[in-house]
Amino acid sequence: MKKYNFNAGPSMLPREVIENTAKQILDFNGSGLSLMEISHRAKDFQPVVDEAEALVKELLNVPEGYSVIFLGGGASLQFMQIPANFLIKKAGYVNSGTWAKKAMKEAKLFGEVVEVASSADDNYTHLPHNYEIPADLDYLHICTNNTIFGTELREDIDAPVRLIADMSSDILSRPVDVSKYDAIYAGAQKNMSMAGVTVIIVKDDVLGKAPRELPTMLDYRTHVEKGSMFNTPPVVPIYTLMETLRWVKAQGGVKEMDRRAHERAEALYAEIDRNKLFRGTVAKEDRSLMNICFVMNDEFKDLEKSFLDFATERGMVGIKGHRSVGGFRASCYNAMTMEGVNALIQTMKDFEAQH
Ligand code: PMP
Repeated sequence: MKKYNFNAGPSMLPREVIENTAKQILDFNGSGLSLMEISHRAKDFQPVVDEAEALVKELLNVPEGYSVIFLGGGASLQFMQIPANFLIKKAGYVNSGTWAKKAMKEAKLFGEVVEVASSADDNYTHLPHNYEIPADLDYLHICTNNTIFGTELREDIDAPVRLIADMSSDILSRPVDVSKYDAIYAGAQKNMSMAGVTVIIVKDDVLGKAPRELPTMLDYRTHVEKGSMFNTPPVVPIYTLMETLRWVKAQGGVKEMDRRAHERAEALYAEIDRNKLFRGTVAKEDRSLMNICFVMNDEFKDLEKSFLDFATERGMVGIKGHRSVGGFRASCYNAMTMEGVNALIQTMKDFEAQH
C-alpha cells in the first residue's frame, strides 16, 4: 500500500532526491567507492559543498556580505552557538513555542535575556503579536515556524535590532528577505535533507564582536573561513541537501514552493473547518502552512484512537499530534504532494461518513 509521510521531521523528501543519494551511496561518481567512504577532501566532494552553498544563495537570494555554512549538531546546537557568537550584553527572545523556549534557555548561559513576548499562557495556540522590541538588545531571536504547535510567521518583520531566526521547519518554503536578518539557521531534516546537517546563513560583519573567547568549533568564523571544511562535515546529509536544492530549483524555486504550500494547507484547513468531527487548534491568522494541527471536536473525542487507526490503515504515516497538543498533526513540507493531502482529506471525509 502506498504510504503518505506526514512526519514532522525527519520527514518526507522528494523521491528522486532519495534515489539519487542512494546511487551515490553505492558508487560515488563512478569512483568505485561509496559516498559514505570517500574523504571529505576528495576532489569530487568539494563541488558538492560548493554547489549546495551556491544554490542556497541563489534560491534564497542571499545578498553580498553573507556566508552560508553547513554544520553538525542540529538546530539545537545553534540555540547556544547563536548567543555564544552574538550575545554581548542583552538579547531578546520571542517565546512562541517549545523550540523558541529552548533557544531562550541556552542564551541565558551567555548573558541577560529578555522575553520580549510570549504566548505560553495560551499554550502557544497563537503567535505573540503587538509587542515592543527594546532598542537596546544585541539581537532579537524568533522562531518562524513552531513545529509542535503549528503556528507560523510567514513574513519578514522589521526589527530595530539585529534579527536572528530559527527557520528549521519552514526554510525554503517561501521567498525570504535575508537582508532583514543577521543570522538564519535551520536543521535540514524537514525541508532540506536527512538529519545531520544544519544550514546557517550569517552576516559576515557581525562576527567576532562578542566579548568572550570562543572554542574554535563554536566560532562561526572558523567555519566561514574554512568553507564548512574545518573538520569532517556530514558528507551524506550535505550531498542530499544539494540534491534537494537542485530539485527545488527545477520545480520553480521558493516561489513555487510557497504556492504549493498555500495550496496544500488551504485544502487541508478547509476540510478541518468543514468536517463535523474535527477542529483546528490554532488562531486562523497564525496557522502554519507546514505543520497542520487539529483535534477531534469535543463531542467526538472518543473517536481519536479509531481515526488514527483508520488513517493508518489507509497509508497515512506520522499524523499523531505532539503530546503537548494531542490530536493530530499533518506536516506538509515541500516534498508533500497534493495527492498525499487529498488522500488525507478523503480519509477524513470517509471517517465522517461512518459517524
Ligand atoms: N527548531 C525547530 C523549529 C524545530 O522544529 C526543531 C526540531 N524539530 C529544532 C529547532 C531542533 O532541531 P534539531 O533536532 O536539529 O536539534
